[in-house]
Amino acid sequence: MDEKNRKKIRPMENISSILKKIIANHKCQINQDQIIDLVLNNASVQEFLQVHKLKITDDIFKRSLNNLYIYIQECEHPSKVNQGYEPYLFVNGNMIDFAYRATLQKRIDDRKKYVQNLIHLVDLPLSLKNVELSAVDKTPERIKALQEIGLFIQQYHVDKHAKGLYLEGDFGVGKTYMMAGLANGLAQEGNEVVFLHVPSFIAGLSDHFKDNSLTDKIMKIATATIVIFDDIGAESLTEWSRDEVLGVILQRRMDNQLPTFFTSNMNFDALTIHFAQVKNSYDDVKAKRLMERIRCLSKEVFVGGENRRR
Ligand code: ADP
Ligand code: MG
Repeated sequence: MDEKNRKKIRPMENISSILKKIIANHKCQINQDQIIDLVLNNASVQEFLQVHKLKITDDIFKRSLNNLYIYIQECEHPSKVNQGYEPYLFVNGNMIDFAYRATLQKRIDDRKKYVQNLIHLVDLPLSLKNVELSAVDKTPERIKALQEIGLFIQQYHVDKHAKGLYLEGDFGVGKTYMMAGLANGLAQEGNEVVFLHVPSFIAGLSDHFKDNSLTDKIMKIATATIVIFDDIGAESLTEWSRDEVLGVILQRRMDNQLPTFFTSNMNFDALTIHFAQVKNSYDDVKAKRLMERIRCLSKEVFVGGENRRR
């Protein structure tokens, strides 16, 4: 739209809203009986009058007819500009007036958005933000892990340094899914959670060289309030990514006793071998040192069951 036309349309909008009010005013004056009828037959007005019957005298009601009429119009013909908001009535001195407030749906949506924004996914699908802890099937093989998750949430209320969990089990048994439930449960209570897919994170490290953001990224993960490391053991490591990236992050989290979770297809023994055997070298001592940090940060819990991806 060009500048000239835009200027023409703006005042038109104002005029139409002014006209609406004049018509409403006019109606009030010449057709008061009809207006009273319309107003008294409106369910939300009826409810409002019932709730406030002690305050609202005949005088107040008559004085408010114009407002009540416009209120009904606004309810019945909501404008797009007010999407997500609804008019509501209130007693304003010796008159009934109306204002706008967010609808219940908008408040629910805003709350959901707020909770979801507290979950920071790193290389994981967005759908994990929607997993509710209550929706996780309580099969016998999962009960132990679910109990431990529940215990952690309870304990976290009183101890911000509560020890995390290491969910260990076969591919597809629901480890990531349960951790998504945990992330959601913690976010519902206002906590920020970083949920990170270790193999993709390690594979993508070189991207951060270009813009010098690596140290910053490492520090963010090292100091985040709560971190879930998903699928640790499936990454392919070099000495550098093991010692200078994973090692540094886990050391820092251990020193500061920051809640840290893991999921893995490997138990602690298999993970030790995985850490020892990196590209072109074998270092048992470094691997054990890294394992010490993981042991210190988390409690190992086995998750059984069938592969749910089949
Ligand atoms: P793992 O991390 O153990 O390899 P996932 O958590 O990825 O397994 O789960 C495998 C598949 O099963 C996923 O597609 C996941 O959405 C689904 N899944 C896991 N647990 C549940 C559950 N309780 N209810 C519904 N789907 C589930
Ligand atoms: Mg997984």
